[in-house]
Amino acid sequence: MAKDLGPACKQCRREAEKLFLKGERCFSPKCAFERRGFAPGMHGRSMGGRRGRKGGGSGRESDYSRQLRAKQKARRVYGIFERQFRRYYETALRRRGITGLVLLQTLESRLDNVIFRLGFASSRGHARLLVTHGHFTVNGRRTDIPSMVLSAGDVIALREGSRDSTYFKELASVAEARNTLPWLSRDLKTLSGSVLRLPERAEIDGNLNEQLIVEYYSR
Ligand code: SF4
Repeated sequence: MAKDLGPACKQCRREAEKLFLKGERCFSPKCAFERRGFAPGMHGRSMGGRRGRKGGGSGRESDYSRQLRAKQKARRVYGIFERQFRRYYETALRRRGITGLVLLQTLESRLDNVIFRLGFASSRGHARLLVTHGHFTVNGRRTDIPSMVLSAGDVIALREGSRDSTYFKELASVAEARNTLPWLSRDLKTLSGSVLRLPERAEIDGNLNEQLIVEYYSR
């Protein structure tokens, strides 16, 4: 399972912004970033809440630093190890289209992300857990692979044997309050959904900078 290691909240503090990795907690006063909005570690406070090193002693962040941070942020948002993230980039590079956009579309099309986007999980980490526990099927076949990349026409459904769990019994009313996206369709009665098409750039997190990620890997 491709998953980022380390406490989620530390990753937000490292990136100096909320990455919303812990579902409902991120919107509550318990959010660690709200309480301690400075970088983790001994020198966190002295960095004035910012993370990373500044380039060249000039007080300006170097190009490399900005590229690295953009890549790390995307990796953390989607919870992916470096090796797999690089592999996604290399695959995107070989595909037709704008590399940065293809990369983001691939990340969005991962099964764990789609489950999260459908509102069936409170965070991508939670979605990963539900998938690895075998609660979902893709095109009628049970799967426990969160990194599975879906395509237009793929159908995700709750496995019959999971319907009786308390979480899924209550999910329809909880998920109703969570918006889904136009590139997905969902049915809350059956707790199923499908991929209609690839997401457009405007339907993907605007805080991610795919151009900097591409620059980082093309150095
Ligand atoms: Fe980040 Fe959520 Fe933790 Fe807040 S609660 S620091 S947004 S993961």
